[in-house]
Amino acid sequence: MPTYEFRCPECTDFDLVFEMRSVPDTARCPTCGGSSRRRVSAPRLSRGGSAAARLIEATQRSAHEPDVVDSPAPGRRSGPAQKYTANPLHQKLPRP
Ligand SMILES: [Zn+2]
Repeated sequence: MPTYEFRCPECTDFDLVFEMRSVPDTARCPTCGGSSRRRVSAPRLSRGGSAAARLIEATQRSAHEPDVVDSPAPGRRSGPAQKYTANPLHQKLPRP
């Protein structure tokens, strides 16, 4: 069933789910109980379930609420820094 947006003149917007054949033009606000008119809004086309959609949602979520990390990533070993190059000339470059 599709989700419809309603706007309460006293509070804010809220969503309700109705069958397409029985959607009303007004609904009761869940916060104040006032009459709220249905809004015309863009359709929310679902991409859920695909790997791309999960990645996009995880990226958007982590932008505001990054995951807490309490240990190094698996597979990364602790110890001396890993050499990135085998060229001996690179050993003479200044270190940060
Ligand atoms: Zn309200």
